[in-house]
Amino acid sequence: MPEAPDLYVIRDYLERHLTGLTITKAEVLRPIVMRSMAVEPDALPDDIAGRSFSTFWRKGKFLGLELTTGSDGSERLLVVNPMLSGALQHCAPSVRVAKRTFLALTLSDGQQLRYTDDDQMGMVYYLTPEQLPQIPRLTDQGPDVLNEPLSLEEFKEHLKPYRGEIKGVLTRGGAVSGIGNAYVDEVLFAAGLFPFKKLTSLSKEELAGLHQAVYSVPANAIPVLQERMGDDIHRKVRDFLKVHGKGNQPCPTCGTNITHITSNGHLTDYCKKCQPGSLFG
Ligand SMILES: [Zn+2]
Repeated sequence: MPEAPDLYVIRDYLERHLTGLTITKAEVLRPIVMRSMAVEPDALPDDIAGRSFSTFWRKGKFLGLELTTGSDGSERLLVVNPMLSGALQHCAPSVRVAKRTFLALTLSDGQQLRYTDDDQMGMVYYLTPEQLPQIPRLTDQGPDVLNEPLSLEEFKEHLKPYRGEIKGVLTRGGAVSGIGNAYVDEVLFAAGLFPFKKLTSLSKEELAGLHQAVYSVPANAIPVLQERMGDDIHRKVRDFLKVHGKGNQPCPTCGTNITHITSNGHLTDYCKKCQPGSLFG
């Protein structure tokens, strides 16, 4: 799942490579993930053709691709919510079209921007700026994990309305946004916290450690991702993470085998020695 650090790098790439380029042709190859809110779905290819990319933004786990005004004065943008496996691919038209490709935009430099999604759980919205509040979970997110960090006191205030296990609270996006199932494992490992510990049971010291990890772990991943992804923005680079995806491999801190479990439909990797706790209270 692309999370804030991945999307930060993708947004940066799009800004550097696509700003000012015009969409010369749009093909909706599979409509299932497309949500055309600005026009009838059949009218999308004609409506989007001729517009250029102007601005790119990221909010939590959403990417916004703003387009120039049409000849009739209409404003449009694309918003991508990649969910589990959505990805943007920027490539030559001759590159083989992946099986689960949903949208292909041909650009004025002869390249293509494609949206692929193996699990087809993501969404690509085509809308007007006024329609942004209609996108579920876009505008009601907590403070972004890559923005100016909240102070420890503000952080605690934002966590206050939430109950339950810390992993779930952090990934839901209301208290802090942009963290998903991979980076939350890394954050909790850095903070030495058992992922299923109840938020309300954290000590003052544990909350301070969590605050520190929430704002350092995702931010520190950015330069690594930038270097490793390069121009392949559709590639998911995760092998440098310390515990996520490393089940049954030695913990980089203590050497204990990393525990790999499935809970609530999500995979969780943690070190039972560095992150002590019990599933049963
Ligand atoms: Zn360990």
